[in-house]
Amino acid sequence: MKIAILSRNPRLYSTKRLVEAAKARGHETRVIDHVRCFMDMGTANPSIHYKDEEFVPGSFDAVIPRIGASVTFYGTAVSRQFEMMGTYCVNESVAITRSRDKLRSIQLLSRKGVGIPVTAFANSPDDVDGLIREVGGAPLVIKLLEGTQGIGVVLAETKKAAESVIQAFMGVKSNILIQEFIKEAGGSDIRCFVVGDKVIAAMQRTAPAGEFRSNIHRGGSATLVKLTPKERAVAVKAANIMGLNVCGVDLLRSSRGPLVMEVNSSPGLAGIEEATKKDVAGMIIEFIEKNAKPNRTRTKGG
Ligand code: ADP
Ligand code: MG
Repeated sequence: MKIAILSRNPRLYSTKRLVEAAKARGHETRVIDHVRCFMDMGTANPSIHYKDEEFVPGSFDAVIPRIGASVTFYGTAVSRQFEMMGTYCVNESVAITRSRDKLRSIQLLSRKGVGIPVTAFANSPDDVDGLIREVGGAPLVIKLLEGTQGIGVVLAETKKAAESVIQAFMGVKSNILIQEFIKEAGGSDIRCFVVGDKVIAAMQRTAPAGEFRSNIHRGGSATLVKLTPKERAVAVKAANIMGLNVCGVDLLRSSRGPLVMEVNSSPGLAGIEEATKKDVAGMIIEFIEKNAKPNRTRTKGG
């Protein structure tokens, strides 16, 4: 197969591993910097221009979008163009867009009965008191809707701190949500790596001392973890609701069971492969071998 990997940086661990795994399984790969793609629309035959080349239907058998959070808008437009050309994308553009918006994700998950931390959302500083009450008071967590890597996630330990942080974010017109703080998670969360309808690898991430965010980028450390059947089922259900074939579902272990914190559409491979010693990249390629067929996007234009 010819597999395109949409990635801004061929030197990233995840990108390199996908290239390596595809090659090992006899496929051809191209790493395409999606931000350098430009597109023809309004013509009968959609195509994508890339530097001096033109990609047309059939140029690739499959696309693996690895879209960074800072380029979601343009990256998903490029993925969508591939979908319009009938090229199989392992994660579809609408699913990526859906998962990038924390509020939208949480609304979808909660509507389908997936456990999430109690979460509130408001637009006006006049409603701050109600918001704080809604999530059970301080301590509570405040999150920027489009943050990643733990940046934009704040723990407010007192009501006063919560009020001022919420007002500050609102003052600069940032969209935020307020969440109950799951103290019993103890600064740890569980990353479930889902491929298709299976959790193929999982790790526990633990925050360094004095920190509550377990993100690897914030100094968190990863260890092997054994999931309960319930945790597996919740992770697969969350991936399914988001419509993502390959994703990282992050769970908090709370006293009322696993709660989904977020679903990541471009989960990093370094931490999970290191913690589990599994060939996660290879399993992604294997999934593509089984599922990539032209015109197999669920959402093209509809
Ligand atoms: P990001 O998208 O920036 O990774 P997350 O929502 O995943 O943002 O939050 C970052 C980290 O903060 C999580 O991995 C978790 O360790 C911690 N965290 C987030 N929300 C909560 C919460 N409601 N209760 C306890 N810890 C939380
Ligand atoms: Mg996270």
